[in-house]
Amino acid sequence: LLGSPAPAPAAPLEGAGLGLPPRIKVVLLGDSGVGKSCLALRYTRGWFDAGSKATVGAAFSCVTVALPHSGPSAKIDLWDTAGQERYQSLAPLYYRGAHASVIVYDVTQRETLAKAAWWLDELRRYAGQHMVLVLVGNKTDLADQRQATEEEGRALADSIGAHYVETSAATGSHVAEVFEGIVAQMAGGLPLSVN
Ligand code: GDP
Ligand code: MG
Repeated sequence: LLGSPAPAPAAPLEGAGLGLPPRIKVVLLGDSGVGKSCLALRYTRGWFDAGSKATVGAAFSCVTVALPHSGPSAKIDLWDTAGQERYQSLAPLYYRGAHASVIVYDVTQRETLAKAAWWLDELRRYAGQHMVLVLVGNKTDLADQRQATEEEGRALADSIGAHYVETSAATGSHVAEVFEGIVAQMAGGLPLSVN
């Protein structure tokens, strides 16, 4: 019809259009050995290396991963401590500008769940209050060694205002939900899908 404008093309589903930063900074926190590096490797590369060694000689590392095509065109900068968690004080640079934090514990090591609250305090000393928080109980594949129940993990998550996901970096179970849930949360306040 003459004079009627062609329908505007659908706005591309880009990070900016959804109020997302083009690069989302996510910091991994949690005790040494809980599986932070394995979760990062599983999500960014899709594999698990049971023989992987801790990174030596770097305070932290950062990998960037583009989100799946169906989602917003943002990228996640995933920051991982490389052993420095032992010193109980991370450089403020690690936290600076972080949009989200994933606090990881090991469901087969009860004390790592208790330490999750300590990591939250550490985070709040350096980072802003408005952050997407996810508490992750990792190593669910080791079901016969489990020491902390899902209910305990979820109760702590509720008490600190975090979302809760149980994962296995070894099998890949629910790993993508952690990171894609963060993006969904930032894009539209959608609830994270949890177990
Ligand atoms: P980080 O110190 O938190 O970075 O922990 P790592 O990612 O280095 O993992 C510590 C140890 O736990 C390694 O021996 C891993 O192979 C093992 N690990 C990590 N994630 C899992 C998991 O989901 N299941 C099992 N069975 N082992 C895991
Ligand atoms: Mg590590």
